[in-house]
Amino acid sequence: MNVASRKIRLVLDLRRAGVTDTAVLSAIERTPRELFVLEAFRDRAYENTALPIGLGQTISQPLVVALMTEALELNDRHKVLEIGTGSGYQTAILSKLCRRVYSIERHRPLLKQAEEQFQRLRITNVTTRTGDGWKGWPEQAPFDRIIVTAAADELPQSLCDQLAIGGIMVVPVGRTGAQRLLKVRRGEDGLDIRTMGNVRFVPLVRGTADLDVPNAVTRSGPSRDWPDPQLAN
Ligand code: SAH
Repeated sequence: MNVASRKIRLVLDLRRAGVTDTAVLSAIERTPRELFVLEAFRDRAYENTALPIGLGQTISQPLVVALMTEALELNDRHKVLEIGTGSGYQTAILSKLCRRVYSIERHRPLLKQAEEQFQRLRITNVTTRTGDGWKGWPEQAPFDRIIVTAAADELPQSLCDQLAIGGIMVVPVGRTGAQRLLKVRRGEDGLDIRTMGNVRFVPLVRGTADLDVPNAVTRSGPSRDWPDPQLAN
């Protein structure tokens, strides 16, 4: 099967799994996921699974990317903060649906690769930096939307503080084996927090990473997902 047919099949799978936002589906269709996975996994780029991207991290499963993006209710005026650039795939999708993305990654080599792909795809509305996502990006706050693509062990207070009033944050929270994807709305009077489902993400680690490179590539098996309880990244 060629890339075009694999893509169509993936989008059909996402629709069947309950993704209805046509702008999100179209962004997924227009983003070449094969550029964001390791070469060895290129032929699996349009499978609905998480795949290794090096340094023990994974590119999220397309269904998870779609559901998280949909939950953000984006428009082209939004300024978005992303924590966990990773491969840059989710960033590339966001960049098509909002005004500007600020993205933070703790592993400098991953960020470098992601930036190369943004250049290649002529994505110009993404600003990145290496750093500790727990702290957010105070100089650029407030953000209309925040997306966290690694699991925090508690709701990150500084990210809640950097969310605009009326803003939405999508964030997985909990320890490995007990993570829930939360949709947080910041209202005038505080936070409204809803659980979207159970998920499996790599942890949102504290601090940057240049000195703690883990055991290279880890292979993640096929993952089965929404609307079942395990929504894997
Ligand atoms: N959205 C990414 C998913 C990457 S996995 C993609 O589509 O490819 C999660 C990423 O979060 C990893 O790259 C990991 O290094 C990063 N991460 C973990 N803790 C972090 C932190 N405290 N600050 C910034 N990035 C972090």
